[in-house]
Amino acid sequence: MNAAAGPSAPALTGGTSVVGIIGDPVAHSLSPLMHNSAFAALGLDWVYVPFHVENADLPRAMDGLRGLGVRGVNVTIPHKSAVMPLLDRFTESAAAAGAVNTIINKDGQLVGDNTDGVGFVRSLRDEADFVPDNARVLVLGAGGAAKAIAVELARAGARRIVIANRTVERARQLAAHVHDYGAEASAVALDAAVLRDVVADSDLFVQTTPAGMAAAGDAPAPAGDDAALCLPEPFEQHWLHDGLVVADIVYTPLKTPLVRAALEKNCTIAPGWGMLLYQGVEAFERWTGTEAPVTVMRAALKHALRDES
Ligand code: NAP
Repeated sequence: MNAAAGPSAPALTGGTSVVGIIGDPVAHSLSPLMHNSAFAALGLDWVYVPFHVENADLPRAMDGLRGLGVRGVNVTIPHKSAVMPLLDRFTESAAAAGAVNTIINKDGQLVGDNTDGVGFVRSLRDEADFVPDNARVLVLGAGGAAKAIAVELARAGARRIVIANRTVERARQLAAHVHDYGAEASAVALDAAVLRDVVADSDLFVQTTPAGMAAAGDAPAPAGDDAALCLPEPFEQHWLHDGLVVADIVYTPLKTPLVRAALEKNCTIAPGWGMLLYQGVEAFERWTGTEAPVTVMRAALKHALRDES
């Protein structure tokens, strides 16, 4: 099969295992393509289905998973926290992130897991050759993605994590939480003089705000020397240095202004699609117990993202 062209319709059988994704909205999700390409490549009798679930229907949806024997689902906005009281137990990653992005149905017991942070750390290792052990990290943003990432970086041995956020109180709360996982953690406001010094003293810069994200219908980002490099406020390109790994978790456009600025400064880039890919890889492996065909999943995802950008 040509993975980049996407999977052909699966031949469903009486034994087909069903997984999927719940969210509202869910139609835009690239996860069905990624997972169904993987099932097809390995010849697994599994199928991945998008389920549009509104808030009020969440409890019935969880009962539905149990009643129908659905093997698991990914969970996306707006259900990542709301689903937690409806589950039977959690993994440490889900408890630490305070959110669930993957549910595994173990004989009717729904186990909440979170593969976002673990997937992010794996993407650093496999796509940017960067292991966060002992690293000095700056995280921009203190929302749900930042929390999953910062906690997992601490669990992976990061030495120091600075959280910078528009709402500094939210950064403080996240820093206190991250500290519980063994890293030195502190919070800063979006102050240029402070951030310039933190960037100079960092090995890894993780951008987790929507800054640089293309709005639906935007023209593709301009390329070349004339392209405007509108970095997240108040960052400036000359702060970036060639020893820095830059991870922008925004992946539309594929090359955000921050990524383009970082490439010009010879930084190593951990691509935004990497987190999406590896949270899926980790979920696939938990559901199936089989090593995920990462090459196939990466090709399907990147092909779809190029079509979108
Ligand atoms: P969230 O929980 O709503 O958090 C948003 C964060 O961005 C907050 O820290 C917020 O600051 C900050 N922010 C928002 N607008 C801002 C602005 N104009 N100026 C400065 N800061 C601003 O969202 P999330 O779930 O963490 O997602 C954040 C981004 O990551 C989204 O673009 C999402 O698409 C992307 N994402 C990517 C992946 C992936 O797989 N690559 C996975 C998850 C999310 P305040 O606290 O001050 O509001």
